[in-house]
Amino acid sequence: MSVARVTEPVPTAEAATNPATAPITAIRTRVVSARYRRPFKISSGISTDLVSLVVEIETADGTVGVGETSPMTAYTGETLAGVTAAIEEHLAPALIGHDPLDRAGAHLQMDAVLRGQHVAKAGLDIALYDLAGRLSGWPVHTLLGGKVRDRVQTAWVVGLGTLDEMAAEAAEYADRGFRHLKVKGGKDPAQDLELVRAVRAALPADAEICLDANEGYDATTALPMLTKMTEAGLSLLEQPLPRWDLAGLVRLRERLDVRLMVDESMHSLQDALEIVRRGAADVLNIKILKVGGLHRALQIANVAEAAGLAVKIGSMPELGVATLAAVHLAAAVPGATVPADLVGPMLVTEEPLAPSVFGEANGWVDVPTRPGLGHDV
Ligand SMILES: [Mg+2]
Repeated sequence: MSVARVTEPVPTAEAATNPATAPITAIRTRVVSARYRRPFKISSGISTDLVSLVVEIETADGTVGVGETSPMTAYTGETLAGVTAAIEEHLAPALIGHDPLDRAGAHLQMDAVLRGQHVAKAGLDIALYDLAGRLSGWPVHTLLGGKVRDRVQTAWVVGLGTLDEMAAEAAEYADRGFRHLKVKGGKDPAQDLELVRAVRAALPADAEICLDANEGYDATTALPMLTKMTEAGLSLLEQPLPRWDLAGLVRLRERLDVRLMVDESMHSLQDALEIVRRGAADVLNIKILKVGGLHRALQIANVAEAAGLAVKIGSMPELGVATLAAVHLAAAVPGATVPADLVGPMLVTEEPLAPSVFGEANGWVDVPTRPGLGHDV
């Protein structure tokens, strides 16, 4: 993979600068990958390796911040080659010469030169937070406002499989300490009803079940099955309908006695506001990579707080650096009360970026207190 090292600053007349801070001088990317313990399957396909992009931002005094991003192409519409090109050809030149502590200004610069491309922007945003933490000596959660919890409760995510395989995996991880089991579905609501019943029967009474249908149902045919799933003990229903069908989500929400969470419907601050206005959800699934970084994710969490919605900090297939960004966010957002989906590092045989943070999978992650993100890169 090519390396971006751009040294010509782009003039930024409007950008505020802190004279005490050495400017950004170089931005580099490199691909890392790790093998899944078992192939990971959701409704859009199957993967054997988790492939991710590490993003490094260096300042004139030699300080380096490390970020990570990873496109889940079927979900975000971005590709690894596209993300790399967006960073190297458009976003890095816009940030060279920029004050590394000015994260809001960095987003304005990035948005001015390239529309969308949230996955690419998130990699740079995460690196900027790590860099600001290293420069200030503060952990990232302090930069986000401070931590309201010392450890983050996490969900286990069970990929698609046979009913028996999925129920057995849910039970295994409940034994390890997980109290929130998210199972993937969305192909057939009748089959998912059987899944919810099988998983419910396999779990202790205090463990919750979330079903993520990944947009797989339509409002009319799914309703009777969803009513039965609720009666069978489903606690949280994630994105049952296509991302654009907010009216359908409103109708389901009126008719179902289960909390409804949006994921694919919410990729931006503006999406979050529209969901709130329409009353289309009880919970927002905020994924740092899909919304363009921690800066945007925190803004969305604030909208959720103002509207009285709970938050799940979610993740895409991503390794330790991006997952750590999510840990700090989950620690800093009071309304992040739904256990976070931070399983990427636990799905692979050997986590290459933060092995000291993500060890045993037991349903909890301690919030690191080292400066920056606290990874091992
Ligand atoms: Mg989801």
